[in-house]
Amino acid sequence: MSDQTNPEHSKASTNPATQIRRQNRRMLLHALRVRGSLSRAELARATGLTPQAVANIISDLIAGGLVRETGRRKAPRGQPPIAIEIAGDGGYAIGIRIDDTHYHAVVADLSGSLIEMIDGPVTAKSESDWLDFIANIHAGFTARFGVDRCLGLGLVTPGPFDVTWPGVPSPGAVPALQSRAVADALTALTGVDIFIENDATASALGEKLYGEAGDIDDFFYIFVGEGVGGGIVIGGEPYRGLRGNAGEFGHFIIDPAGPSCYCGNRGCLGQYLSLRAMRAFLAKAEAAGEETEAATKRWIEQAAEALSIALASVENLLDPEMVIIGGAVPPAFLKELIAELGDLRPSVCQAQGRKRLRMSALGERSAALGASALPILAATTAANGLEDGPASH
Ligand SMILES: [Zn+2]
Repeated sequence: MSDQTNPEHSKASTNPATQIRRQNRRMLLHALRVRGSLSRAELARATGLTPQAVANIISDLIAGGLVRETGRRKAPRGQPPIAIEIAGDGGYAIGIRIDDTHYHAVVADLSGSLIEMIDGPVTAKSESDWLDFIANIHAGFTARFGVDRCLGLGLVTPGPFDVTWPGVPSPGAVPALQSRAVADALTALTGVDIFIENDATASALGEKLYGEAGDIDDFFYIFVGEGVGGGIVIGGEPYRGLRGNAGEFGHFIIDPAGPSCYCGNRGCLGQYLSLRAMRAFLAKAEAAGEETEAATKRWIEQAAEALSIALASVENLLDPEMVIIGGAVPPAFLKELIAELGDLRPSVCQAQGRKRLRMSALGERSAALGASALPILAATTAANGLEDGPASH
């Protein structure tokens, strides 16, 4: 397999012992991220790891500058325990979400706290324009926050990556950035590790770290924008598939006799539920003399019906604890869509007897936040290269 076509984590070791150490390390860091500060004994209880394993991992993490001791706590008797916390100032990461009209860029520190957020329109056309645009954002941030402390840059865009469909480009996608090879070119320009991800998977990660899914390990994220994408989290980890294209929700076939899709199939979900589909629907209705309000209502009804059909398949495939819907659309729009959906179709998830679909509270920021999480997770998982080296592309 060529590294060019693989998700960035494909270089990670497949050695079972190394994988277990990584997993244990991530559990500890997750506990610290969620709970703030904990003693070694509390960490052992929170994670189920042995005190010896906790002690070993913590000493590695301290050596790597990722966590620090914050002094002794008061205790009723005996030696008071030393509290451990993530060293937020141990580094920062840049996350950028780009589509063909706008960008959002964030800076987050190692503890995941948001330090800075900017956004605006994009005007780049050629591939070199795009690379310069991204390198300029990087240069602006590193000038302010320091070159040495930058853990890397997560770049997320609408997918799919390294796929040629007859009618490319995908709605909202930037063709120049739809190849994972962009990572190497950007590393050459910026000197930092670049992490490429599709925006729906990154949004799912954003929800896991900052949003609705903090304590949820199995969920599906629906990204509604110019097109529709999906992000899968299984066992607390994003599931990427071979080329980073897992969860291409917008190409679930709803009606094989439906309208042609640029992918070559007919009746894909994105032909019913997407901003592009909405504009096409409303333009046609307007041409036929229909009132915009009535046409919008009709559009919401058919988009909700298509989503309901696709959702049943997702739930039956993944048996998720919840499905979260968000993306680059106004919250009011999502609320209306969810209201129109009403009761979901039967699936294996009906047994859980509670809300199966939730709306993202992060809105458009989720993808950029998820992008910034990519270098942070790589750093906090591989402990600054103590084991496997950077897991970047
Ligand atoms: Zn399609």
